Amino acid sequence: MRSNVVPLHSHYDAIIVGARCAGASTAMLLSRAGLRVLAGDRQSYGSDTLSTHALMRPAAIQLSRWGLLQPLIQSGAPVIRSTTFHYGEQEVTVPIRPEPDMPGLIAPRRTVLDRMLVDAARAAGATVLHDTAVHDLVFDPHGRVRGVTFRDAAGQTREVSADIVVGADGLGSFVARKVEARTLVQGRCSVAHVFGYAPTPAFSGYHWYFGRNLSGGMIPTNDGFACIVASVPTERFDAEFRFDLSAAQRALAALAPGLGSRVFGNGGERLKAFRGTPGRLRQAYGPGWMLVGDAGFFRDPLTSHGISDALRDAEGAATAILSCRESALREFQEIRDSLALPILETTDAISAFDWSLEELPERHKRFSEAMKSEVAVLLARAARDRQVPPIPQGLVTSQLEAI
Ligand SMILES: Cc1cc2nc3c(=O)[nH]c(=O)nc-3n(C[C@H](O)[C@H](O)[C@H](O)COP(=O)(O)OP(=O)(O)OC[C@H]3O[C@@H](n4cnc5c(N)ncnc54)[C@H](O)[C@@H]3O)c2cc1C
Repeated sequence: MRSNVVPLHSHYDAIIVGARCAGASTAMLLSRAGLRVLAGDRQSYGSDTLSTHALMRPAAIQLSRWGLLQPLIQSGAPVIRSTTFHYGEQEVTVPIRPEPDMPGLIAPRRTVLDRMLVDAARAAGATVLHDTAVHDLVFDPHGRVRGVTFRDAAGQTREVSADIVVGADGLGSFVARKVEARTLVQGRCSVAHVFGYAPTPAFSGYHWYFGRNLSGGMIPTNDGFACIVASVPTERFDAEFRFDLSAAQRALAALAPGLGSRVFGNGGERLKAFRGTPGRLRQAYGPGWMLVGDAGFFRDPLTSHGISDALRDAEGAATAILSCRESALREFQEIRDSLALPILETTDAISAFDWSLEELPERHKRFSEAMKSEVAVLLARAARDRQVPPIPQGLVTSQLEAI
């Protein structure tokens, strides 16, 4: 949808910069509660992005609570019922415990997942623009963010005001830069990921392979394909793969025979590469602004947890906004940090690639423990859903001015 054909208000309760996992979810939740929401993304509706998409249990719980897990399964994303870790010759298979509203995990393509979240936001009443870049924030004389200016696909510039501007604009967040959000914690490790797609009808479940300075993954997704990923420390990527991604084939083939040749011999979608960058936890809010998703918290993708973080924090941010209390923003950040810091620490322990195959299972166990604390928080939210609606309906929007 093009912004130049969508009639806009001059003021919104909330403007969201970025409309993928974090932004579209936040827009959906605020709109479901009755707020007037505008979200804008500089990329196109239904476009792909530089990310694999293995969802962990926290993401599946959120999507299930929001009524989106079943539609995603119906989109053709296979239900993942087990995770197998390949530590050299040793295989450890962990079954995924099904729950009444969650038959297993899924790994939908981002073209499917992000589009469905945008559709849900629109169905709830949000205006979501694509091909529309926010290129500045509007500040009042006291330094409070009051709105944004954006440029649409036709090159027209518009200024729109809002009670709160949410930066859901990813790792290189423009909003975070403009508001000078402080970095609270910096991660230690940087891992590069090279990935592509191959038909894999016979495979089921997630498969993760580990070797010296290398890991591989097989992630079944839509249309009978699997995403196949090779991950190496950034220094190794720079030295061996950067200018020759097919070197990843040889590395993967050595790690798991057949894995490399599947994706590289398939002649389908071209390979994509992310060079890596250390994790980072940023200040989550300030006068008139908040950050959600990678904009606020980035951890290395090796533990496949970014989308889970984004969906969890989208709800935390929406709930804080809807409560209209400054203290709720602080609580949002405190809860986010209490869950994010163990995720960051245990992800870094895995991404360091300084382990032996004998040591690695213990690091995976610590990551799994961190995720269990997060799952407990989300299940408590799910239990509350059964008693009261997930977020209050029909908020008096002028109250937002108070935060
Ligand atoms: C290689 C790789 C593999 C990954 N694999 C997994 C995985 O398997 N599982 C998992 O859970 N996570 C994975 N992640 C992490 C996951 O991709 C992110 O955590 C997730 O995309 C964060 O969502 P987000 O909405 O915060 O940001 P993004 O998905 O980055 O979306 C931000 C959006 O903001 C838009 N934007 C930016 N600036 C502006 C602007 N000025 N105006 C308008 N729009 C703007 C961008 O166009 C973009 O569409 C991976 C990441 C990488 C890099």
